[in-house]
Amino acid sequence: MANEHVENERELEMREQAMIEGIIEGSPDAVGVVVIRLDCGCRKMAAVSEDGEPASKIIMYRDFAESICEKCQDDQGSYLRVVKQFIHWSEPAPSSDIQTRINTKVFGTSPESTH
Ligand SMILES: [Zn+2]
Repeated sequence: MANEHVENERELEMREQAMIEGIIEGSPDAVGVVVIRLDCGCRKMAAVSEDGEPASKIIMYRDFAESICEKCQDDQGSYLRVVKQFIHWSEPAPSSDIQTRINTKVFGTSPESTH
Protein backbone atom coordinates (compact mmCIF):
# COMPACT_ATOMS: atom_id res chain seq x y z
CA MET A 1 0.00 0.00 0.00
CA ALA A 2 2.80 2.37 0.90
CA ASN A 3 4.32 1.87 -2.52
CA GLU A 4 1.09 2.77 -4.26
CA HIS A 5 1.03 6.04 -2.39
CA VAL A 6 4.57 6.86 -3.54
CA GLU A 7 3.68 6.03 -7.13
CA ASN A 8 0.68 8.33 -6.98
CA GLU A 9 2.76 11.12 -5.55
CA ARG A 10 5.30 10.75 -8.31
CA GLU A 11 2.58 10.71 -10.93
CA LEU A 12 1.11 13.89 -9.47
CA GLU A 13 4.49 15.61 -9.46
CA MET A 14 5.01 14.67 -13.09
CA ARG A 15 1.64 16.08 -14.06
CA GLU A 16 2.33 19.24 -12.09
CA GLN A 17 5.70 19.55 -13.81
CA ALA A 18 4.07 19.13 -17.22
CA MET A 19 1.53 21.84 -16.39
CA ILE A 20 4.30 24.17 -15.24
CA GLU A 21 6.25 23.68 -18.44
CA GLY A 22 3.16 24.33 -20.51
CA ILE A 23 2.46 27.55 -18.66
CA ILE A 24 6.04 28.78 -19.04
CA GLU A 25 6.00 27.99 -22.76
CA GLY A 26 2.81 29.99 -23.20
CA SER A 27 4.04 32.97 -21.19
CA PRO A 28 7.05 34.75 -22.71
CA ASP A 29 7.40 37.09 -19.70
CA ALA A 30 7.34 34.30 -17.14
CA VAL A 31 10.34 33.78 -14.88
CA GLY A 32 8.46 31.16 -12.91
CA VAL A 33 5.11 29.66 -12.06
CA VAL A 34 3.26 30.15 -8.80
CA VAL A 35 1.94 26.78 -7.63
CA ILE A 36 -0.75 26.65 -4.98
CA ARG A 37 -1.91 23.29 -3.68
CA LEU A 38 -5.28 23.22 -1.96
CA ASP A 39 -6.47 20.84 0.76
CA CYS A 40 -9.05 19.34 -1.59
CA GLY A 41 -6.40 18.22 -4.09
CA CYS A 42 -7.03 20.94 -6.66
CA ARG A 43 -4.22 23.25 -7.71
CA LYS A 44 -3.92 26.80 -8.84
CA MET A 45 -1.11 27.98 -11.05
CA ALA A 46 -0.14 31.20 -12.75
CA ALA A 47 2.99 32.43 -14.45
CA VAL A 48 4.75 35.33 -12.76
CA SER A 49 6.92 37.99 -14.40
CA GLU A 50 10.22 39.35 -13.10
CA ASP A 51 8.26 42.24 -11.56
CA GLY A 52 6.15 39.82 -9.54
CA GLU A 53 3.12 40.52 -11.72
CA PRO A 54 0.89 37.79 -13.16
CA ALA A 55 2.18 36.75 -16.58
CA SER A 56 -0.69 34.45 -17.45
CA LYS A 57 -4.24 33.64 -16.50
CA ILE A 58 -4.72 31.75 -13.25
CA ILE A 59 -5.21 28.12 -14.10
CA MET A 60 -7.07 25.81 -11.78
CA TYR A 61 -7.14 22.10 -12.26
CA ARG A 62 -7.67 18.85 -10.47
CA ASP A 63 -5.59 15.78 -11.13
CA PHE A 64 -7.37 12.93 -12.91
CA ALA A 65 -10.59 14.96 -13.12
CA GLU A 66 -12.45 16.84 -15.80
CA SER A 67 -12.96 19.88 -13.63
CA ILE A 68 -12.13 21.34 -10.25
CA CYS A 69 -14.12 20.20 -7.21
CA GLU A 70 -17.36 21.77 -6.01
CA LYS A 71 -15.63 23.51 -3.13
CA CYS A 72 -13.30 25.31 -5.50
CA GLN A 73 -16.12 26.18 -7.86
CA ASP A 74 -17.72 27.85 -4.84
CA ASP A 75 -14.75 29.70 -3.36
CA GLN A 76 -12.32 29.76 -6.30
CA GLY A 77 -9.71 28.01 -4.18
CA SER A 78 -9.72 30.20 -1.10
CA TYR A 79 -6.32 30.91 0.42
CA LEU A 80 -7.75 29.55 3.68
CA ARG A 81 -7.48 26.06 2.19
CA VAL A 82 -3.93 26.37 0.87
CA VAL A 83 -1.70 23.55 2.04
CA LYS A 84 1.40 24.51 0.11
CA GLN A 85 2.46 27.39 -2.09
CA PHE A 86 5.71 28.04 -3.84
CA ILE A 87 7.18 29.38 -7.05
CA HIS A 88 8.72 27.00 -9.52
CA TRP A 89 11.45 29.02 -11.27
CA SER A 90 12.12 28.52 -14.92
CA GLU A 91 15.71 27.88 -15.93
CA PRO A 92 17.91 29.78 -15.56
CA ALA A 93 16.40 30.79 -12.23
CA PRO A 94 16.59 34.49 -11.35
CA SER A 95 19.05 35.62 -8.68
CA SER A 96 18.10 34.98 -5.07
CA ASP A 97 17.48 38.72 -4.56
CA ILE A 98 14.92 38.71 -7.35
CA GLN A 99 13.42 35.46 -6.08
CA THR A 100 12.96 36.99 -2.63
CA ARG A 101 11.42 40.14 -4.09
CA ILE A 102 8.97 38.17 -6.23
CA ASN A 103 8.07 35.81 -3.37
CA THR A 104 7.38 38.76 -1.12
CA LYS A 105 5.23 40.43 -3.73
CA VAL A 106 3.27 37.30 -4.62
CA PHE A 107 2.80 35.80 -1.15
CA GLY A 108 3.19 38.92 0.96
CA THR A 109 5.99 37.28 2.91
CA SER A 110 9.17 35.35 2.37
CA PRO A 111 8.46 31.64 2.15
CA GLU A 112 9.82 29.30 4.74
CA SER A 113 11.23 27.10 2.06
CA THR A 114 11.91 27.66 -1.60
CA HIS A 115 12.78 25.40 -4.46
ZN1 LIG B 1 -10.92 21.78 -5.05
